[in-house]
Amino acid sequence: MHYLDHAATTALRPEALAAMQRQWQQVGNPSSLHNAGRQARRTVEESREQIADLIGAKPADIVFTSGGTEADNLAVKGIARSGSKRRVLISAVEHHAVLDPADALVQEGFLVERIPVDADGRVDLVALASLLDDEVALVAVMWANNEVGTIEPIAEIAQMCAQRGIPLHSDAVQILGDPQFEVAAVPSVALSAHKVGGPVGVGALVLDRNLDVKPLIHGGGQERDVRSGTLDAAGIAGFAAALAAPAVDTRPLRDELITGIRQAVPDAILNGDPVRRLANNAHFSFPGCPGDALLMLLDAAHVAVSTGSACTAGIPQPSHVLMAMGADEAAARSSLRFSLGWNSTGEDVLAAVDALPKAVERARRAGGRR
Ligand code: PLP
Repeated sequence: MHYLDHAATTALRPEALAAMQRQWQQVGNPSSLHNAGRQARRTVEESREQIADLIGAKPADIVFTSGGTEADNLAVKGIARSGSKRRVLISAVEHHAVLDPADALVQEGFLVERIPVDADGRVDLVALASLLDDEVALVAVMWANNEVGTIEPIAEIAQMCAQRGIPLHSDAVQILGDPQFEVAAVPSVALSAHKVGGPVGVGALVLDRNLDVKPLIHGGGQERDVRSGTLDAAGIAGFAAALAAPAVDTRPLRDELITGIRQAVPDAILNGDPVRRLANNAHFSFPGCPGDALLMLLDAAHVAVSTGSACTAGIPQPSHVLMAMGADEAAARSSLRFSLGWNSTGEDVLAAVDALPKAVERARRAGGRR
């Protein structure tokens, strides 16, 4: 099988597995006071320091969660609910882990507005500037888009928000692992372990300690009372080990993949910012070709890719990301995401490029276009 869906989840890195195995052989709750508990606490705190060091954060700002979804929910709902302001601005291309908690806030009387993006999926800074005022409780703009791979102008957005004293949350789930990524001046950042070769079910919110946040989960008061629940010492150790594992630059393979797809299917259209894009992402529209049919045809040829957009009750939805970028519904349904990871090879790229022309032709026939 040629797995080209690393943006959905990537294989566990051996370093992460080894770190988890070491911790699984121990007993001890990191909150317990005895020696066994203190050993588990040491694992957690060393991992926290290691992760912080690798992303340019303060260890005390890291709040461990059950993954990116929980980190996004905690930031969006927790920050918005902590004050009296009632406007929430989110980019139109956010992952559902941000979109849906923001929509849930509408029931509580918040006014949630979408910040538009351009045809490459980049947030429109002029539009954002015109939306900012003293009633804004929170701005959420993802660091990089999980579908089309566009990297957002986060430094500029952070500056605009800081000038007005407005908290900014950024979902950095897809860019974590890029050696150039640093949380820098963004006060709230969501991370997930399983996108970088750590375990599923572990993540973090990197949250400035000066920022007020209402917890979503109440209980034992772990994680500075912001997020209760027994800490998963083994999972956290796996997260840190995955992040500390040697970085793999997927750019050369990504560029080979983009060039190969363009040659194999000359009318394929690359989506997202052609330059400021994730190192592992190639996202294409194939005109007249239903994306879900193409996905299944490639799967039959042992090439695993994604349409990148969500399903509701098993029914594929047109991508809200592509629609926000100006695509019509047909175009938004005719795209595929190819994403590379730390163990991707040139053979994976060749297999995808070789399988595409026939799959595209058959999917077009199925979609009524020859
Ligand atoms: N945010 C983005 C941009 C993602 O791509 C994902 C995963 O698909 C998530 C959040 C959710 O992360 P997790 O699977 O750890 O809950």
